[in-house]
Amino acid sequence: MERQVIRGFCRLEDVGKPKAEVAAKRVMERVSGVNIVPHFCRIEDKDIEFYSDFNIIALGLDSIEARSYINAVACSFLEYDFDDNPREETMKPMVDGGTEGFKGHARVIVPGVTPCFECTIWLFPPQVKFPLCTLAETPRNAAHCIEYAHLIKWDEVHRGKAFDPDNGDHMKWVYDEAVKRAELFGIPGVTYSLTQGVVKNIIPAIASTNAIVSAACALETLKIASGCSKTLSNYLTYNGVEGLHSKVTQFVKDKDCLVCGPGVLIELDTTVTLQKFINMLEEHPKLLISKASITYHGKNLYMQAPPVLEEMTRSNLNLPLYDLMDKIPKDILHATGTINKDNKKSSGLKKLRVVFKGIDGVTDMDLAGGA
Ligand SMILES: [Zn+2]
Repeated sequence: MERQVIRGFCRLEDVGKPKAEVAAKRVMERVSGVNIVPHFCRIEDKDIEFYSDFNIIALGLDSIEARSYINAVACSFLEYDFDDNPREETMKPMVDGGTEGFKGHARVIVPGVTPCFECTIWLFPPQVKFPLCTLAETPRNAAHCIEYAHLIKWDEVHRGKAFDPDNGDHMKWVYDEAVKRAELFGIPGVTYSLTQGVVKNIIPAIASTNAIVSAACALETLKIASGCSKTLSNYLTYNGVEGLHSKVTQFVKDKDCLVCGPGVLIELDTTVTLQKFINMLEEHPKLLISKASITYHGKNLYMQAPPVLEEMTRSNLNLPLYDLMDKIPKDILHATGTINKDNKKSSGLKKLRVVFKGIDGVTDMDLAGGA
């Protein structure tokens, strides 16, 4: 939820308390009969079972990585029947919204029906960076001077020490260097708050844009919950930069999506141990998931962390996966771990469709399915 709105709720006694707790308390005071349970932690800290208890997931997230993660969690509950049609009772709808200054979007994601977040990941292109040569040789504005200090000068002076945007001393150092750079080239406008904005990619939040987008999200959530009306299909954009434009686009699913599709198909011999299976996931070209923890219908087969769970599940590593899956010839497993994609590491969850070879009941059709 947005800071300014929370500030409207805040009283002196609330200062220093988590936003989630304060917001929950204040909403319950204002709206009688509503029950809110706040959780103050990273979304990745909750296990998959936690999310299975919800009927609808309304997102209020600020990054692509976080959206990707929750999307994978919601899609992991989706099951397909033997004809690869999604089963309606396993769909967990999501409502997402986001704003950037005067622009915003709201969308409804019904896994298996609409495109999921990953199907349309191209809607969120990587942040455009300034060319390094411009920063190094021909800075033209204050942002160029700040990025020079942040991306080039910092490494020159602090070899091997990572810049931490949340460290006030680091930020002050970048600001001071940016001021020197700006003076050298006669460029005005470097301030401490601009330095923070450029380095952290902060785009000013506009409370009214947030209000429009969050109202759209709330309405769509109400429609899904009550069935009182047809939902938005499936992506609303709002643009208040030059005049006001809004539009609804019906994006289509990526039929090969690894997240909302039937799952990555993995064929195994019945003798493959859990340890060998985990190693395979790391090398699988479509998965690239390292340090994987494996769950099977909510049962922890192997957990990398916390240490107490790791110890409890460690003995499973040497057992055949086939036995751990109660000798079921084909079923869905979930793997959580570190995904290495484009030289970036992030937490991820993958749905895996495991089929054991040479077992009665597994037909050629199952093996030909693909992901
Ligand atoms: Zn998808």
